[in-house]
Amino acid sequence: MKLQDKICIVTGSASGIGNGIARRYADEGAKVAIADLNLAAATAAADAINAVHPGAAMAVAMDVTDEGQVNAGVQAVVDAWGGVDVLVSNAGIQIVNPVEAFSLADWKKMLAIHLDGAFLTSKAVLPHMYAKSSGSIIFMGSVHSKEASPLKSAYVTAKHGLLGLSKVIAKEGGKKGVRSNVICPGFVRTPLVDKQIPEQARELGISEDEVVKKVMLGQTVDGEFTSIDDVAEVALFFAAFPTNALTGQSLVASHGWYME
Ligand code: NAD
Repeated sequence: MKLQDKICIVTGSASGIGNGIARRYADEGAKVAIADLNLAAATAAADAINAVHPGAAMAVAMDVTDEGQVNAGVQAVVDAWGGVDVLVSNAGIQIVNPVEAFSLADWKKMLAIHLDGAFLTSKAVLPHMYAKSSGSIIFMGSVHSKEASPLKSAYVTAKHGLLGLSKVIAKEGGKKGVRSNVICPGFVRTPLVDKQIPEQARELGISEDEVVKKVMLGQTVDGEFTSIDDVAEVALFFAAFPTNALTGQSLVASHGWYME
């Protein structure tokens, strides 16, 4: 068991990648807070984990853009379980549009969820990690933390920004036992990706099949999607890594779409 009794908060874990990470962490002995905007789905996700590992999961209502909700959610976890060892800042959405058609409201919404959310959740957990001189923060970046694609101005901007925030936390947290790293997945077949296939087909004037084969997977070494399990494996590696040797880093898991 790599995360025995570790207290973990995973934002956006009622669905998709975050949910896979929460389940993987619980399988490794962790206690996991399913922190999500969608409380009904978070409760269902926590119930599913508790059915396999009784008492391992709790649902927390949290809009990561709302400081009051973030602080209350983190406090609820601390009250229930006594601290926070791991934060996975994962909640995210996608909005695609060319820059000239991107509304300011959508731009602000994207930066709020991806960047304000990462900042607010980190700010809320850090005092609890510093109190124990131990902790691991993991941000859900993307290949779009390193690379750009048309139509994704806000997403690419936000995902690049996470690299900076993570490095600052790595430098501030190092002497206090807190590590910070970024996972950069390629395309993973989740509701977030399914939604953009018809949207991108419309915007780019190509078929949905071409969006998948050319836009999403065309640059990979094998034409394969990255899986939720692949990303959960990396999230486990970062969470369980025992020392500060691994901090301020980002790891790309994308079937070779992006190579450093
Ligand atoms: P998803 O749509 O399956 O899940 C996202 C979850 O976040 C949902 O449960 C949703 O309710 C929650 N959420 C949305 N806004 C929120 C908010 N304001 N506060 C709290 N929770 C909120 O998406 P996913 O594909 O699993 O994406 C998860 C993360 O992974 C995102 O940050 C995304 O950018 C990143 N990512 C996804 C892919 C991919 O191909 N799917 C690739 C790289 C990175």
